Amino acid sequence: MNTPHFYRPTWVQIDLAAVASNYSTLKKRLPAGTKMMAAVKANAYGHGIVEVSKKLAQCGIDYLGVASVDEALVLRHGGVRTPILNLGAFLKGDSEAIVKNDITATITDWDTAKCLDSYAGVFKKKAKVHIKIDTGMGRLGVWHDEADEFIIKVCSLSNLLIEGIYTHFPSADSDESFTRSQIAVFSTLVSKLTIKGIEIPLRHTANSMAVLGFKNSHFNLVRPGLALYGLHPKDEWLGKIDLAPVLSFKTKVVYTKNVARGRSISYGRTYTTKKDTKIVTLPVGYGDGYNRLLSNKARVLIHGEVYPVVGRVCMDQTMVDVGQARVRVGDEVVLVGCQKNRVIYVEDIARICRTIPYEVVCWISPRVPRIYLNV
Ligand SMILES: *Cc1c(COP(=O)(O)O)cnc(C)c1O
Repeated sequence: MNTPHFYRPTWVQIDLAAVASNYSTLKKRLPAGTKMMAAVKANAYGHGIVEVSKKLAQCGIDYLGVASVDEALVLRHGGVRTPILNLGAFLKGDSEAIVKNDITATITDWDTAKCLDSYAGVFKKKAKVHIKIDTGMGRLGVWHDEADEFIIKVCSLSNLLIEGIYTHFPSADSDESFTRSQIAVFSTLVSKLTIKGIEIPLRHTANSMAVLGFKNSHFNLVRPGLALYGLHPKDEWLGKIDLAPVLSFKTKVVYTKNVARGRSISYGRTYTTKKDTKIVTLPVGYGDGYNRLLSNKARVLIHGEVYPVVGRVCMDQTMVDVGQARVRVGDEVVLVGCQKNRVIYVEDIARICRTIPYEVVCWISPRVPRIYLNV
């Protein structure tokens, strides 16, 4: 087991067996032969890009999706040989690194396509590319009406190999009819290309929500991120689909003290003790990604019991009111994860902060060591 040494007892535990289990849960919902690309951008949503990708490679993942050439290079330097698609745009200056490191590029316009083609020519390689189609996200990609002409033009670049074509859904979790119309537009484009004799091997649209909620979005490759980390694209699905949480965020009590009734706690004095009580200090704060919006709202687990965060979350420290409980220095505290029979979900933290689970896991800063189980 990879156990980094650290003095401050605040860490994230990543259960790679849960990643493997989520991979097979998703795989079972797909028709045989459907390929899967795992979205591992942003350090695998804070879970650790190299470790998560190596586990997924063991499971048989077909592709990895990253947001930049830099992220792809972290994987290549970490020894990951799985095909990697850069889902982000690239600038002309990135072309050499893309070609040299066998990174599949997303093509969104003619200028960068031409530039990549000429670099591939210099290095006597075929550069694999996926063409990004805009069907309503309004972000990267060629507008779908103009896509067939664009693709025909890209076909003329002899050092590019058009391996894939894809689009992305802006509201798969909230607008079923818009998502259905995007799927229809994408299917029409694929058929139009087939009629013109252009058969692109990989066709993909589905993020986690679409993998789970829109069967006809699967085409022959799906692109989940969130669900592989055991997180739910819809809050209502918590406990209803068999996804295993991967990440736990833990710390230990480093200080305890008895505090009389009527004393204030932390910056801004937003909390005053209502009775004589015990306040414990945790060595974790917003500098670690334990968001300041959790002040006076979040709960933590100690000995399997639930206790409130009191006062403002500081940069490096957070206080909890444990009442009369026998809590001591060194006792383990769960910020996210389970302890005895109780669980705090990433989704719970997201709700308190009025954001999405994606952001909660991305917040957890590099200062927090990651410990990997079941590598
Ligand atoms: C991040 C990302 C995904 C994965 O989305 P999830 O909602 O996490 O499943 C898929 N496709 C693209 C283009 C992405 O950027």
